[in-house]
Amino acid sequence: MWAMTRTFSIVGAGLAGTLMALMLAEDGHQVEIIESRPDPRSAGRVGGRSINLALSERGIHSLAEVGLDQAVLAQSLPMRGRMIHPAPSDSRGGDGAELTFQPYGQEGQAINSVTRDHLNDVLLQAADAHPGVTLTFEHRLIDISFPRRTVKLRDGGGNLFERRFDTIIGADGAYSHVRLEMQRRGAFNYSQSFIEHGYKELTIPPAADGSFRMDPNALHIWPRGDRMMIALPNVDGSFTVTIFWPMTGDRSFDTIAEGDAAALRARFREQYSDVVDDLVDLEADYFDHRIGRMVTIRCWPWNEADKAVLIGDASHAVVPFYGQGANAALEDCGLLRAAIRDHPDDLAGAYHAFGADRKNDADALADLALANFIEMRDHVASPEFLERKARERELAETRPGEFTPLYSMVSFTRIPYADAVAKAAEQERELFS
Ligand SMILES: Cc1cc2nc3c(=O)[nH]c(=O)nc-3n(C[C@H](O)[C@H](O)[C@H](O)COP(=O)(O)OP(=O)(O)OC[C@H]3O[C@@H](n4cnc5c(N)ncnc54)[C@H](O)[C@@H]3O)c2cc1C
Repeated sequence: MWAMTRTFSIVGAGLAGTLMALMLAEDGHQVEIIESRPDPRSAGRVGGRSINLALSERGIHSLAEVGLDQAVLAQSLPMRGRMIHPAPSDSRGGDGAELTFQPYGQEGQAINSVTRDHLNDVLLQAADAHPGVTLTFEHRLIDISFPRRTVKLRDGGGNLFERRFDTIIGADGAYSHVRLEMQRRGAFNYSQSFIEHGYKELTIPPAADGSFRMDPNALHIWPRGDRMMIALPNVDGSFTVTIFWPMTGDRSFDTIAEGDAAALRARFREQYSDVVDDLVDLEADYFDHRIGRMVTIRCWPWNEADKAVLIGDASHAVVPFYGQGANAALEDCGLLRAAIRDHPDDLAGAYHAFGADRKNDADALADLALANFIEMRDHVASPEFLERKARERELAETRPGEFTPLYSMVSFTRIPYADAVAKAAEQERELFS
């Protein structure tokens, strides 16, 4: 039990909001979570699709802090490396050409494919079961008065409510309303930057006998220059496939007219010939699913005195190419809890300390994520890249403690992101130049 118990209003029952609630409740605080969507456990799931994400050390450690790591990992698949599917025009061949497997780290190291629904359910279930947490679904935050410490909420039926709050944690994602209200207060730096690509999710269902149609212990990549396709395995034998294409121009989303199934199949046959026949519902998936856009959000400060603080995507949304957005959001929770414990009588100080310690790391991650898009879609297929990775693995094995590849520091350790980048630059100077 910590010195002062408080009442926290957390906006957003996503990954960061639910974990943060549990951590604060464990420390004896009262927590209410306000979520705009219906309870996903009773609302039914969109089309039964499995949308997954890669969970690595930072996320797993954060879940372990509330004893939930094993419950999450029980339904996950370890991905030990990248499986590269060459382009049909690649000199190494097309259809039936050899796949290349590139391990992510040392023997035994892997990132883990988990479904978002499972991860969110485990967290929600635990938050719901905690007597210190109350969950309110179908209530959207639409206004905050910081001077009066009140929030305005709108429920699913359109009814408006005004409530007092003690302090707010904005865990309401990349398009955060809490952040917007902080921005309106002035002296708030904010930037959002969309990449020119969009993404769409497709599915490779299990084979007729229920088995996987590809290696389930790899993250599959079809690098195609300025675009790519990836696939992550699901425990039900399916793969969630994501295409990252430019919105306009050559082979872009723009070039497939609405409903033109023949053009769509032809594009996939030309670009992804080794799996086109496994994309059984390609036409339905492609034309039914919307194109998602990817944004990097940077802002500062992350708190409004002791009245509000931002965590997760609300403070630092990043593009998904390092597989770290959720991991960083979960890691934020442990860091904010530690700051609140360290400043038991000074919530403004705690919020500020959390942000001041974390901001450089969030910026470093944003840059890493953007750079990794180019690596994944373009470089991973090149002989130079393969040579470089082989040399990194050799150094990591022969000089442990002296050399750790950047990818390993980011995915398999909790070294702060900015420190990992600095250490990688130092290693580069000493060992590669
Ligand atoms: C295509 C794609 C692939 C990704 N893959 C990975 C990956 O492999 N690994 C990884 O670590 N990360 C990945 N990410 C990133 C990850 O999804 C996010 O970083 C993570 O979901 C952020 O969690 P969060 O809790 O901050 O926000 P969210 O998960 O967005 O949760 C925010 C919650 O707030 C609620 N909300 C919003 N506004 C309001 C309001 N006004 N009132 C009440 N409630 C509100 C929302 O309904 C939502 O439930 C990926 C992202 C994308 C787009």
